[in-house]
Amino acid sequence: MSKAKRFISLPVLAVFLLMLFVYYTTIFIFIDYWVGLQTSPGTLNASVFTVLASLSLFSFFVCVLSDPGHVPASYLPDVEASAHESAKDHAERKKCDKCFAYKPPRTHHCRVCRRCVLKMDHHCLWINNCVGYWNYKAFFAFALYATLASIHSVVLFISCVFQKDWGSNKGSSLKIFYVFYGMMMMALTITLLTLSGWHVYLILHNMTTIEYYEGKRAKWLAMKSGQSYRHPFNIGAYKNITLVLGPNMLKWLCPTAVSHLKDGVSFPTVRDNS
Ligand SMILES: [Zn+2]
Ligand SMILES: [Zn+2]
Repeated sequence: MSKAKRFISLPVLAVFLLMLFVYYTTIFIFIDYWVGLQTSPGTLNASVFTVLASLSLFSFFVCVLSDPGHVPASYLPDVEASAHESAKDHAERKKCDKCFAYKPPRTHHCRVCRRCVLKMDHHCLWINNCVGYWNYKAFFAFALYATLASIHSVVLFISCVFQKDWGSNKGSSLKIFYVFYGMMMMALTITLLTLSGWHVYLILHNMTTIEYYEGKRAKWLAMKSGQSYRHPFNIGAYKNITLVLGPNMLKWLCPTAVSHLKDGVSFPTVRDNS
């Protein structure tokens, strides 16, 4: 699928329209009714919200347009390393039975994209793309900016509701709109907060969503045989963050600052560090 064609999808269009709708109502209805756009608190809030909304939109586009990570045609598993690898690691290196090519560690085959994706996290319907090695940072930035924008919008909405003189207003359709909007924004904010929190947890442990579920199974299997299981790529919280978001803290939330990413076919493990 060509990159621009990923935009031709109902969920992608829905996300885009939702962002436009929330932006328009927050700026031109809630801020305007609350203090007025011409006042200094109005201008300040509108500017902050515009920055957050623009960063969300930009990160969203980067997520949709980025290649999540394809396996290089020349990739061959490291035979020397596999001599003293555990059976589980070795199994990871097996060939993909759909692509008939070797799978690097942390690579998974996506049934929707019909190809193997490096460090695949999950296939995301809302961006019509996989979330993998190359666009995970943009995905995380999008989740975070959208969460902040959503919280800001809820705060402005609540301020506007308290400001409004409901007694003199007889229009019940307006009240229905406010109730509908309030419920929608609450649901959206809780969803985004959960999503961001979940990915903060995953980044701190250097895990993908797939690895989290695989790890749960591996832990259970290890426990049954009286052993312990540790996620091999978790090399300490700070190092884990820099591997995903980059070494420069100032660029941690820049979705396009991905020069720290390598080929995505090998990753430092606990064993390398010990
Ligand atoms: Zn495959
Ligand atoms: Zn996919």
